[in-house]
Amino acid sequence: MQKEDCIFCKIARKEIPSKQVYEDEDVIAFKDINPAAPVHLLIIPKQHYDSLATMGETEIPLLGKMLALAPVLAKEAGATNGFRVVINTGHDSGQEVNHIHVHVLGGARPWKKL
Ligand code: AMP
Ligand code: ZN
Repeated sequence: MQKEDCIFCKIARKEIPSKQVYEDEDVIAFKDINPAAPVHLLIIPKQHYDSLATMGETEIPLLGKMLALAPVLAKEAGATNGFRVVINTGHDSGQEVNHIHVHVLGGARPWKKL
């Protein structure tokens, strides 16, 4: 199911443009509009889920596909020296877009090392 007023559902439906780097029947990946690193991609499912907190065992294949795509897309985008994967989840994480997305950040390390 998709959500009419969700910005990432609109990107998945191509109602608003994105710099797409990957698409298959389940997921789409595109460049973050406000990159926090030289390589900053977002991987999202086409189906709407508010966040990782609303996903469960049923979504294991979908979550696995998104995670497995991260190294492939990071490499294609030129992050050949490592990358970080981030899934902000819920209010306290600072999640701003309530459609689950996997951030793939690489090309430099401007962030705090966890
Ligand atoms: P988060 O804070 O984890 O919810 O991250 C949301 C991310 O979506 C931010 O890094 C934004 O820059 C990015 N973003 C918001 N709108 C768009 C858009 N239309 N196209 C690409 N990235 C977007
Ligand atoms: Zn959505």
